[in-house]
Amino acid sequence: MCVREGTSLQAGMNFGLGGTHSVILLSLRPNAPYHDQIEDSGFTLIYEGHDHPKGKDCLNPKTVDQPEFYPSGALTQNGKFYKASQAAKLEKLPPERVRAYEKMRPGIWSYNGMFHLVDSQRVHSEGRMVFKFRLEAVAGEEDLTIPAPIAPVRRRIIPTAIKLAVWKRDGGRCVQCGATDELHFDHDLPWSKGGTSFSVDNVQLLCMRHNIQKSAHIV
Ligand SMILES: [Zn+2]
Repeated sequence: MCVREGTSLQAGMNFGLGGTHSVILLSLRPNAPYHDQIEDSGFTLIYEGHDHPKGKDCLNPKTVDQPEFYPSGALTQNGKFYKASQAAKLEKLPPERVRAYEKMRPGIWSYNGMFHLVDSQRVHSEGRMVFKFRLEAVAGEEDLTIPAPIAPVRRRIIPTAIKLAVWKRDGGRCVQCGATDELHFDHDLPWSKGGTSFSVDNVQLLCMRHNIQKSAHIV
């Protein structure tokens, strides 16, 4: 699914790909395994950490704390995201850039844009500890070769219900070229240019190439 990331992503959390950014897979579907949420009217994603892998030593991962370390003492993905987000919160490091891909339905993923990892918490949830990572949606793709800006242009995440309706209307294809992979939901009039509301009418499906072409014209 992720030609662009140079790897077929199986894991939901992938810290520091190529040293320039991280990648997360998320799902806002009601039956999703983790409770990922949109907050602040769409400007913020709260992404839940991931469970201990299921195995002989852990038959029900939902009953044990989400691990920060492996038995060897090395950081898990939770641990890496936690360490980076705490450093960003304390302004010791620029925030880690994170690209998010959202599961629309089985086997269908859409690119959900660029985020900055700015904070995290450990919270108690149903008798165990889980991680909650705070990610701010930022506009555009940003230049990965320079540190993330302190005051980025913010972006609102398009609601999933709108995305599903647009997906259906556009037949799961880029409206420009008909491509069916690396698709992105494009807000016709970006927030930064005064587009304040999302409706099915002002969102369209674009492939990565056409989306980047369009952003280049706007900025
Ligand atoms: Zn296209």
